[in-house]
Amino acid sequence: MHEPDLSFYPKDGKRFTEEERKALVKRARPVFLERVAYYAPLMKVTSGRITVRTQKTRWGSCTKDGNLNFNALLLLAPPEALDMVVVHELCHLKYMNHSKYFYFELKRFYPAYKEPREWLKKNGAGLIRMLPKEALKRKRRRFFFFR
Ligand SMILES: [Zn+2]
Repeated sequence: MHEPDLSFYPKDGKRFTEEERKALVKRARPVFLERVAYYAPLMKVTSGRITVRTQKTRWGSCTKDGNLNFNALLLLAPPEALDMVVVHELCHLKYMNHSKYFYFELKRFYPAYKEPREWLKKNGAGLIRMLPKEALKRKRRRFFFFR
């Protein structure tokens, strides 16, 4: 895997200000649009609306209507992790579950999904702790890896 791009990390190395958090979302949006535009035609899927936020609880999600949500904090992870989450959510456009068919599809289009998944399991909570205190104060919920 490639190293994370440190230029996306908080200026103080610890925590984003609210302004930096907003700037991160702004920088992340075109990256996700580009990766979806790359993978969707390969996988022969069409996504709905794409939303980029800084959720505390998940890296990505897919609604029944095919709208995708991505976590801007993935910019702080190795680029493989961002791609893996994009492909994971695009697979949900075909299978709204984590069945063997879903994993067959994920392996087909992102065979090396396990290493970035481990990276996120190990380092994800640390990325979420970089969010501004205000953003973290809102009711804490169980940490969901994916939906
Ligand atoms: Zn999923």
